[in-house]
This record gives sequence, C-alpha cells and structure tokens, in this order.
Amino acid sequence: MANNPPHVVILPSPGMGHLIPLAEFAKLLTTNYGVNVTFLTLDDSPQIKSFINALPDTITYIPLPIPDLPPTEIAVKRMILIVAHCLPFLREVMAKLKASTNLVAFVVDLMGTKTFEVAKELGVSPYIMFPSTATFLNLIFHLPELDRTIQGEYKDHPHLIQIPGSAPIHGKDFPMPFLQDRKSQAYISSFQICVRFKEAAGIFINSASAIESGPIKALMNMNSPPVYPIGPLVHDTNSEDDSSGCIKWLDEQLPGSVLFVSFGSGGRLSSEQFTELAVGLEMRGHRFLWIARSPTETEERGFFEVKSKSDPLLFLPDGFLERTKEIGLVVDSWAPQLAILKHAAIGGFLTHCGWNSSLESIVHSVPMIAWPLYAEQNMNAAMLAGELKIAIRPVVDEKRGLIGRDEISKVVRELMEGEEGKKLRIHVKRIAENAIKEDSYRSLDPIVNIWKNNIST
Ligand code: UDP
Repeated sequence: MANNPPHVVILPSPGMGHLIPLAEFAKLLTTNYGVNVTFLTLDDSPQIKSFINALPDTITYIPLPIPDLPPTEIAVKRMILIVAHCLPFLREVMAKLKASTNLVAFVVDLMGTKTFEVAKELGVSPYIMFPSTATFLNLIFHLPELDRTIQGEYKDHPHLIQIPGSAPIHGKDFPMPFLQDRKSQAYISSFQICVRFKEAAGIFINSASAIESGPIKALMNMNSPPVYPIGPLVHDTNSEDDSSGCIKWLDEQLPGSVLFVSFGSGGRLSSEQFTELAVGLEMRGHRFLWIARSPTETEERGFFEVKSKSDPLLFLPDGFLERTKEIGLVVDSWAPQLAILKHAAIGGFLTHCGWNSSLESIVHSVPMIAWPLYAEQNMNAAMLAGELKIAIRPVVDEKRGLIGRDEISKVVRELMEGEEGKKLRIHVKRIAENAIKEDSYRSLDPIVNIWKNNIST
C-alpha cells in the first residue's frame, strides 16, 4: 500500500459552515496535491446533498448514519451526540480503508475530536481542519488557563481579556452559548473537546497572515501541535444555479448599489428583530437583497434547518414587498452566496459574521455590517470592525435586546453612502489582495511531503 498515493479521510461535523470549508480542503488536496480523499458526512439536509453532488469525482463520498434526535436539542449538544453516535460506523469505514489504501491521515473539524480515538486505534494520524479564525483557535489553546485564573462568567469579567498574540477581547464577545455559561453541560463538553486539540498531529486553519498575523504567529510558535494557515479557502461557484433569481435581479442593478443581507446557513432573528430589520431597510430606501429565514419563535431554532418550514415572506410587515419592489428582493432561506458576493452590483454585506461568510466577503472586497448571532460570531465581529476595520458594528439597544430600525438605517447609510463605507472598502480591498497574494495554502507542501514519503508524524 505504501506505494499508492496517500489517502486522507475527512469528516465534517453537521452544518454547512463546517461542510463547505472541509469540502474545499478536500478539493485542494485532490486537485493540487494528487492526494486521494474519502469524504464522510453526518448530515442529510437537501442543501448538503446538492453540494456533495457537485463535488469532483476524484473525491469518494460516504454518508454515515445519523441518529434521530429531538429537534429542540441545542446545536452544540446535537453535534456532540451525532459525532459520538458515528464512532462504530466510522471505525468500520476507516478499517476497510486502512486495509485497502495508503491511509495516512484523518481530518475532522472543531467539533470532531472525539473521533480521534478511532484514528488512534487504527494507527492513523488525526488532524483538525479548523474552519474558523486563528483568534478563536488561540483562545481554545488558552482556555484551560483562563478557566483556572478567571472566576465567574467570562462576560462579567471587569477587564479586557488578553490572550498572547490576539487583540484584547471582552468576555461578552466569547463564543456563545458554550463559553458563556460555565456551569452548563455545553461548557463542560466544549471544554473537553478543546482540551483534545493538542492531541492533533497538525491543525489547518482557514486564515492567512494578511488577515490575522498576530494570532497566527502565536500559534505557529507553539511547540505542538503544528499549525498550518491555509486560507482564505472559499468555495467556487461553478455549480451554483440561479433558481432563486438573485443573479438575474442583480444583473439589472448598478455596480456597488446593493446591500446583501444574510445570516448564514442557520441564523434566525426574533419576530421583533425581523420587523425592525424590514422597517430599517425600508426607511433607508437603499437597494437590498435579503435572504430571509422565518423568525425564531415561529419554528424550532434551526441551525440544522437550512430551509425555513414556513414562508418567511409572510412575516414581513404588511405591504412591505409591494412598497419596496423597486429597490429590494427578498428570497426564502437559501441563495448562491458566493455568486452574489462576487457580483459587481453588491456594495456591502450585512452578515452574521460566520467565518466562511466573512472570508467570502473579504475575498470579494465587500465591506460589512457586522451583526453576530451565535457561536464565535461576536469574536469575528469584534475583529472585523476592530483590528481589520472592514465592518461597521451596529449598536444594540440593550433595553430591548435588539438593533433598532433607526440604528439599522444609520449603519446602512454609513456603509453604502458615507465616508466610513469608503474607508472600509479601501481596507477590505487591500486585505483581500494581500491575502490572495500570500498563497498560504502552500504551507501544506511539507505535510503532504511527509504523507507521500510515509514518514510518521
Ligand atoms: N451559504 C450559501 N447560501 C445561503 C446561506 C449560506 O451559500 O443562503 C453558504 C455561505 O456562502 C457560507 C456558508 O453557507 O459558505 C455559511 O457558513 P458561515 O461560516 O458563514 O456561517 P454558518 O452558516 O456556519 O453560521
């Protein structure tokens, strides 16, 4: 087997935000390095299926069985249960591949470290492809120390928290919900997952020095595990259709005139917030393309439900679509985001700051309005608006627990028409150029060399 091309098994945890960057990583390995890849999935949503069908034939795809869980389970816990459930099936697939191929590596994302036990049993080196920021990874490696030295909840900590290499951060911007309630099971489980990161033979991160030089340097100076920045990896759009009609509509708009509004693959707003957003957009009167998902109260919270069960357009204020038909398009749940961000008509992106969305916006030089909802999105928003200066962060009305219509209208004007927007546009263009020039994926060269020469890590 040792003379066969190296073979790598990749297993993303559930959710498009994990699957997309790991699939891009798989493509990079097969296309640029001639490595064979088996891509496993733990998700059966229609969006995942059509995405997988569009992958090149060089990647072998195997869906693993997923358990039937109550839909109310919170996202982190759900992912942990799904990953734990897959172990026997994973063992079977990996054992077969070990016997029939030159299996050199097993790659999971941030939620998958429990599966390391299977890789170790079979003598296969386990790796992590971290689909988020170096800043978050740096936090993960310092979590045991923070847990030891900070009393009470991080969000109540009176000072900015300094993690070497990263910009100082407010505890309230730590990932939520899992690092925001230290007594919860989600915190304990996430902590256990994070502690296992140091067992990885290597960690690939979807970032580049042009975006996060400080934390990347700090991570690369750690003795172990070795960290390889390989971003920005964003998926290409060749296979995207335009059944949503977005691209056709954008073709009719002037360059840089449209604000794109989307909250990722699972982000939902409360009904009140949904209404404020609609009214704020209408008040400003700027052109917009909004990928809307039904409000949280109208169906169970669905990180895993890419498509709304009920029609989100029914929750818009009365007459909204008619009144805004000359300036806006509202689309139900899903659209080809990459093709949209690439389109010349897009001048700004109101985003939930998921890391894939943030990178896609950076790569296409689109400045942002940072509107984080959950997970590590607050940290991302702090970085995009703070160190990088490529986003405006609207002020939350703490009394109402939402962003009000006037604030929405104000930040849309600032981004799309104001001086601030012009500055952000210049910054994002510069960062994009530098990040693309960096070709950071070449940091994979030595590791693929090790795999090809069958040197153990
Ligand atoms: N996405 C898309 N169409 C949509 C919503 C999302 O293509 O209507 C893609 C988006 O381009 C990105 C991914 O789904 O690649 C979402 O990942 P991200 O990390 O931004 O957020 P998450 O969905 O994990 O919260």
